[in-house]
Amino acid sequence: MRRAVCPGSFDPVTNGHLDIVQRASTLFDEVVVAVGVNQSKNRLFNAEERIAMLEQACAPFPNVRVDGFKGLLTSFCQEHGIHAIVKGLRAVSDFDYELQMAQMNSSLTDVETVFVPTSPEYSFLASSLVKEVATFGGDVSGLIPDFVNTALLARLAERAAQSGGA
Ligand code: ADP
Repeated sequence: MRRAVCPGSFDPVTNGHLDIVQRASTLFDEVVVAVGVNQSKNRLFNAEERIAMLEQACAPFPNVRVDGFKGLLTSFCQEHGIHAIVKGLRAVSDFDYELQMAQMNSSLTDVETVFVPTSPEYSFLASSLVKEVATFGGDVSGLIPDFVNTALLARLAERAAQSGGA
């Protein structure tokens, strides 16, 4: 069984993430999308919400499942019999950090990192940018699944109401 993990914070999941997950699902027997659930105050969606959105978005891919992970990714890999980490590479700016992480991870355990080049239409796409653009009223509907867009607009409206009322 060739099993791979696609790790990330997915706050929220974008079409760029889903492109990498879908392509990984054609290369491996099973793909685990691992959602980082370490506590962070800067998340727009909590861990349960991010996992639920990924489960819905990955439902069309039969060999993909979603899980949460805490702590070291390499420990998660060891616990789940995973020997490959799949990461999308968007631009040269991703490369330095991703290379360092890949080398560190392979020094910790026998896990390989597989880099998948982003599809050109998603090379500018990041969750942080989607949130920033949507916060200021930009239309991000082509960049994330429709149900994620609905949840994003609702959450931003809640946040705006909270800060307006504060
Ligand atoms: P982001 O970088 O969007 O805030 P994450 O930290 O959740 O999101 O990203 C997890 C991983 O998903 C990244 O390390 C990268 O490998 C991949 N990824 C994210 N966005 C894209 C994209 N547009 N194209 C290809 N891969 C991507």
